[in-house]
Amino acid sequence: MTKNNFNKILLQSYILTNCKRRLFLELGRNKPDLWYNPVRSIIKPKRIAVQSKYIKKQGKNYEQKVYSHLKKVDNAIFQETDGVVVMSHLEKDRLIQFYDRLSHNPNITLMLLEFQFENPQSFFEQLFSPKPNVEGIPVDFSHQRPDIIFIGNNINEYVDEVFELLGDGRIRKVSKNEKNKRFGISIFDIKYTQEEKIGKKHFIEIFYYLRTLALLLNKYQLTDKFYVRVNFNGILPLRSEQEFKHIKFVGDIFKYNLVSLIMWKESNRIFENVMGVIKKLWKKSPCSIESINLSLHQGCGYCQYIEDCSIN
Ligand code: SF4
Repeated sequence: MTKNNFNKILLQSYILTNCKRRLFLELGRNKPDLWYNPVRSIIKPKRIAVQSKYIKKQGKNYEQKVYSHLKKVDNAIFQETDGVVVMSHLEKDRLIQFYDRLSHNPNITLMLLEFQFENPQSFFEQLFSPKPNVEGIPVDFSHQRPDIIFIGNNINEYVDEVFELLGDGRIRKVSKNEKNKRFGISIFDIKYTQEEKIGKKHFIEIFYYLRTLALLLNKYQLTDKFYVRVNFNGILPLRSEQEFKHIKFVGDIFKYNLVSLIMWKESNRIFENVMGVIKKLWKKSPCSIESINLSLHQGCGYCQYIEDCSIN
């Protein structure tokens, strides 16, 4: 079990189970006295599902397979060790370097692979309203590391109008005039999944990246240089080797339909709904675990709280 209890898996599992009890148990896992009253131990599952480990491994292998093609694309930026693409850091100085590079070559698109960025505390301050006697954030959160980040305005040609996601969740249109001074950022994740299976759980993950990145631009005071492009993001699903063979430039990734765009308005609505549920659970806390509704369904067999739910 990971130490951080607020991450994309938490959001995805709520989408999959629609279970507030599970969400509540996870939110309170690291700091139970802030969430549960009374605090009690949770009954452990009799068997641990190993299926997820296998799927995770398959996903990681597929990512590297995709990277082996993307590494050869013009303006791909990455670090590697023994042929494996490894994590890089997307910090303020690095963003300014990218800005300078784009300013001199506004027609290129930078493609960043495995760049990790800081998850800004301001996102959690928006989510968890202050309470007397509670200091800090009531969950532990991890950094953000999307698989692919595109930076540049050339890919604006794939949308009729460009919209920006602001740190407070509002969406605004980016004017033509601004596009010469600020560069758009889009996020895509590689998924070991068939295209027709892309759905809400992927949408929410992308929006979590976008929203936290918008807040990070605020924190770094770089909103005059970059904007988070809300209407051009998505998933690179399972593709055959053959499908990558024509990819030489970033534009080819879109031209040959390697990626699937997420429906941004629906994604935004899903994201806001889930944030609303989390806000309400925090407002109600600390409260008894039993006071939060269960959502018993077939998938409960894979949930680590099944034994606890069957008794309480
Ligand atoms: S076992 Fe089912 S009802 Fe219980 S927390 Fe998990 S998903 Fe919810």
